[in-house]
Amino acid sequence: MAISSCANNVEAEPKTHLKQDTPSVSRVWQYPHGARNAVSITFDDARASQLDIGVPVLDKHNVKATFYVMPGPVAQRLAQWQAVALNGHEIGNHTASHLCTGNFQWLRQQNQGLEQVDLQWLRDDITKTNNYIENNLGVTPRSFAYPCGNTFVGRGIEVKSYVPLIADMFSTGRTWLDETANDANYTDFSQLTGIRIDGMTFAQIKVTLDALRFSNSWIILAGHEVGEKGIYTIDAEALNALIKYLKDPANGYWLDTVDNIATFLKNNRTEPN
Ligand SMILES: [Zn+2]
Repeated sequence: MAISSCANNVEAEPKTHLKQDTPSVSRVWQYPHGARNAVSITFDDARASQLDIGVPVLDKHNVKATFYVMPGPVAQRLAQWQAVALNGHEIGNHTASHLCTGNFQWLRQQNQGLEQVDLQWLRDDITKTNNYIENNLGVTPRSFAYPCGNTFVGRGIEVKSYVPLIADMFSTGRTWLDETANDANYTDFSQLTGIRIDGMTFAQIKVTLDALRFSNSWIILAGHEVGEKGIYTIDAEALNALIKYLKDPANGYWLDTVDNIATFLKNNRTEPN
């Protein structure tokens, strides 16, 4: 569950070196159509069930999502992924290797892991993925999702963050399994938070949305398979109910792709971009 112990710190006294009168505390605006909050629905890994079950749900409601893809699975269903891109859904980069911490046993068995590579290796992997997407889907990715939410290479005193690499190559980067939404006046576009919706009912997702709804927060929802709810599966009926809820103007949400919302924020907020 996304809501846990850190939420208890919300009422804590601000640290003394922080100014309490910064614009990030006070500036509140309206998103398009008078919405108070923004939501993006995102899918990782270019899994087949996204095409077979997820995209029809999105298209039925005429809403656009962000798909963070890898060349391997896209190549297996190329014509369908081309149609998704052509239809205006956002295509983001999720690397070719999907390299995460080698603590994952599927990587251990291949003697691979982010602990074993350097920044140049990762840059090459990400560039290769951008080239594949441009050549095959006809779009230039502006958004990136960190596989497994990991943002480092190396180990111990040799660890380096690859967040600066993503900040250099993309408009946005999204992490995973975060506990809070993005503060629209404050969030770092190269480390946007991602909230898990795999395995949740609509009622549970609604509880999460309510909990993460502060000032102009931007809630980026993230999942994998689409079908019957499971540890890595967004429930198709929950997705359908979620979209209906977010589309109802009475609920005050602006539902759009990561890049569309990030572009709006970059053009409107006064804090550093
Ligand atoms: Zn992934």
